[in-house]
Amino acid sequence: MDLNFTAEEEAFRREVRAFIRENLPEATRRHMEQFRVATRDMIVEWARILHKKGWSTPRWPVEYGGPGWTAVQQYIFIEECQAAPSPDLLSFGVNMVGPVIYTFGSEEQKKKYLPRIANMDDWWSQGFSEPSAGSDLASLKTRAVRDGDEWVINGQKTWTTYGQYGNMIFVLARTNPEAKKQAGISFFLVDMTLPGVTVRPIQTIDGGVEVNEVFFDDVRIPLDGLVGEENKGWDYAKFLLGNERVGIARIGISKGRMRLVKELAEKTLRDGKPVMEHPRFRDRFIQTEIELKALEMTALRVLSAEASRGNTGKPDPASSVLKIRGSETQQKSTELLLDVIGEDSWPFPHLEVELRQQTPGPEFADTAAALYFNMRKVSIYGGANEVQKNIIAKMILGL
Ligand SMILES: Cc1cc2nc3c(=O)[nH]c(=O)nc-3n(C[C@H](O)[C@H](O)[C@H](O)COP(=O)(O)OP(=O)(O)OC[C@H]3O[C@@H](n4cnc5c(N)ncnc54)[C@H](O)[C@@H]3O)c2cc1C
Repeated sequence: MDLNFTAEEEAFRREVRAFIRENLPEATRRHMEQFRVATRDMIVEWARILHKKGWSTPRWPVEYGGPGWTAVQQYIFIEECQAAPSPDLLSFGVNMVGPVIYTFGSEEQKKKYLPRIANMDDWWSQGFSEPSAGSDLASLKTRAVRDGDEWVINGQKTWTTYGQYGNMIFVLARTNPEAKKQAGISFFLVDMTLPGVTVRPIQTIDGGVEVNEVFFDDVRIPLDGLVGEENKGWDYAKFLLGNERVGIARIGISKGRMRLVKELAEKTLRDGKPVMEHPRFRDRFIQTEIELKALEMTALRVLSAEASRGNTGKPDPASSVLKIRGSETQQKSTELLLDVIGEDSWPFPHLEVELRQQTPGPEFADTAAALYFNMRKVSIYGGANEVQKNIIAKMILGL
């Protein structure tokens, strides 16, 4: 197993880095560097810049407009984007519903939706979770009933990320209540601007509004809103969730954050000496660095194994390991950042911008606490970490 990048891969990394340096709008880069949540416009603008280059759908095959990159190239691309840092591509379109459509959708659905996903003409949301169906997703209650040449959808979804921006949502709904839980579910593409769709924001612990409740009251969609076969939606959802976990480790982001923690801890004084010279802090910093390095090696091992066996189209259960370790590292690195910034991280989001600029400490100090709280989510979404441990026990350890 060779964990080193080849000369071609290193050249590819330089090409990606140069492109990002020359094309990522400076205001966006600075915004992201200060740990602020990318705005809708920033995400769309950056996706369109990448699209012009043919890079907005990094995992898609060439026949659907993707660049046809190897798994290693995809990894390098994501790492460079995260290191820049640039806004993420909108995963719900590019990594989730896009691959479902080109794998299971009709020719009309491919023609209609794939180019719009690549150019961010549609903003997609994920309508899977419900108030009583998260980890146990198959117990979902949203219903879709066929009525003439339409489907009528009723129910409620929750935790819908960026649902406030969405004009399209992919929805799992029960089409056969008599069948065994998983067997009676179908996968729908729903226009969120239709009558009967209501989006209500949920404020989260960081003070932001990133997630929403979405209600469906007698929402009528055309028959061709169904993807693939009726009652086969669970298979498509499993395929999609496997894709969701790939790349969730966000190694590039943690690396950038750890670099910043180091830089600040070396120059910030506490009790007369740099924070980095406090043994307990130093221990935790080094431990997190080691875990991050180990995570990177694991990610490369997974890629290397995939490169030698070829893409089977099935999610690798090792992605559960990357998800757990990646989320833990993201959380630990934000804890360290908060510790270094200390009392300067007291959140002042209610202050006028001018006043905020006068707060002491590094310029992003006022966002560090919000980031710390926001990162609590990463061990929950994309399949809660406890549930990933169940997958590892069953699929890798054979327990
Ligand atoms: C910020 C954020 C954004 C999200 N965005 C979206 C989105 O856009 N679209 C969408 O559809 N969903 C989204 N989700 C929902 C997410 O997928 C669910 O929160 C997740 O699947 C967990 O479900 P739950 O919240 O209902 O918790 P529950 O399933 O009720 O779990 C509660 C606790 O019990 C544990 N647990 C549950 N089952 C088991 C088990 N079998 N073994 C061991 N422990 C178990 C869990 O690990 C967790 O600690 C988002 C969530 C968050 C936090």
